Amino acid sequence: MTRIFSGIQPSGELHVGNYLGAVQNWVRLQSEHDSLFCVVDLHAITQPYEPANLASLTMDMAVSLYAAGLDPDKCIVFVQSHVAEHNELNWLLTSVTPLGELERQTQFKDKAQRNESVPAGLLAYPILQAADVLLYKASLVPVGEDQVQHLELMREIARRWNARFGAGFFPEPQALLTKARRVLGLDGKAKMSKSLGNTIGLFESPEAIWEKLRPAATDPARKTRKDPGTPEICNIFTLHQGFSPPDTVAEVAQNCRTAGWGCLDCKRVVADNMIATLTPLRERAAALKADAPGVMERLRAGAGKARALARRTIAEVRDRMGFLKGAED
Ligand code: SF4
Repeated sequence: MTRIFSGIQPSGELHVGNYLGAVQNWVRLQSEHDSLFCVVDLHAITQPYEPANLASLTMDMAVSLYAAGLDPDKCIVFVQSHVAEHNELNWLLTSVTPLGELERQTQFKDKAQRNESVPAGLLAYPILQAADVLLYKASLVPVGEDQVQHLELMREIARRWNARFGAGFFPEPQALLTKARRVLGLDGKAKMSKSLGNTIGLFESPEAIWEKLRPAATDPARKTRKDPGTPEICNIFTLHQGFSPPDTVAEVAQNCRTAGWGCLDCKRVVADNMIATLTPLRERAAALKADAPGVMERLRAGAGKARALARRTIAEVRDRMGFLKGAED
């Protein structure tokens, strides 16, 4: 079975955007591949953050992943900082990574422009990503298109390390470009993101979902009930594609193009389908939140399984890189 690895930032509870954009696919992939899913808290600290909140945000993300359907019997879910080998491989790979390649990364350039003082961790972020994946010798990485450049660098790092220390040791990971949806926020402008305050939380009540959807942006061409629209440019249509059955999605497109119904009718249908899909997830999340020790136990078991795999890789890497053996942990 092909091994896959993917990570998600500890941003608290999932919202509809990161559910449709990534996690819904992970739930499917866990039955098709040998899968590791990681809450990447070591990555999170490369941006300004509040230490007092990091643990609870990490816990909320773990609860979200389990509630969304990741099953510890089918995949490994764990927190990155719980497996110290991520840090170790990160440093070992740093020694073979050219600085120029890091400086060329578009995401680094974008983020660096927004920071007064740029932490080296931001520059080295792709090396830690490479360590995350190579530590488990994963050969597939489910990613969005914005991550493809990082994956190319990951392959380059694997190639360079292999060329120096062991031909074919690390697989060169390939992108698994899934049909993940890019969900815009309720403003219909930017990607759905907590920092922009334009999200619908995955576990919000039916009332809250409707209250948020009702005023959400639609195709601006539909100024009145009689104006036809273009579903492909409307974020509500993207939500239909994520939550409504195919027949309904076709009906939505038809009714939008012919002004067969108003946007409020369209939103009511998507709200009902979202609520039907998300109610069991909300109930699972509530049960998990009421059982923090149980969630910690799952995370401990996940970290244990991940660590066992990671240690095998690290032992071989140390050996091939020529370190003195016999007194290490
Ligand atoms: S009818 Fe639906 S898909 Fe069309 S613009 Fe309105 S909300 Fe969007």
